[in-house]
Amino acid sequence: MILVLLGPPGSGKGTQAKKLVTDRKWPQLSTGDMLRGAISRGTQLGLEAKSFMDKGALVPDEVVIGLIRERTQESDCQQGFILDGFPRTVPQAQALDKMLSERGKQVDRTVLFEIDDSELVSRLSGRRTCGNCGAMFHVETARPKTEGKCDQCGHPLTHRDDDRPEVIQKRLSVYHQQTAPVAEYYRSTGKLRSIDASTSPTEVAHALQDALK
Ligand code: AMP
Repeated sequence: MILVLLGPPGSGKGTQAKKLVTDRKWPQLSTGDMLRGAISRGTQLGLEAKSFMDKGALVPDEVVIGLIRERTQESDCQQGFILDGFPRTVPQAQALDKMLSERGKQVDRTVLFEIDDSELVSRLSGRRTCGNCGAMFHVETARPKTEGKCDQCGHPLTHRDDDRPEVIQKRLSVYHQQTAPVAEYYRSTGKLRSIDASTSPTEVAHALQDALK
């Protein structure tokens, strides 16, 4: 199964991808996590990506396509994988189709997480992330047991630079301009299913299971 999770930032793609990793054992390929990893390792790629990410802009297509091309060739991806945050532009979707067809594969299913912008602003501005294991919390709706510490690994929680209000607006407008057309690209292939992402994580997980049937 090659699955694409599509939706605006804060719509819960990462949370649901992590549940699928546990339930179905497909690896989660998040370009956002890969880029943040490159930044924390201080690589050249990370340095270049950071200037785009801090502004809420997209990193150039060729950079993220290269990351996905390499990552999907690793052995754990041979039975399938979940793409979370990629593709984010129509050229990325086209490059993915081309790269997969060269390997005799294809995207099997795309699930669009639908949710209003107003809900996303409060979700993102209150989000706190564990820089170690990637677990996510919220200052009001999903508080950690100990203030500022990850429940799973005890690492300090951080407020992502791009989860600040001024950058959130930019990321949402980038989503509507550049990523929403990707949903239309997949709709035209008949592979797109839409789910209501405004409900609780458990309800979204059920809707996602239905969409994968
Ligand atoms: P995310 O963690 O998915 O919200 O991504 C955080 C940031 O990483 C985005 O705002 C972009 O700057 C960058 N990014 C992640 N994935 C992509 C992608 N597929 N194409 C371009 N930029 C990306």
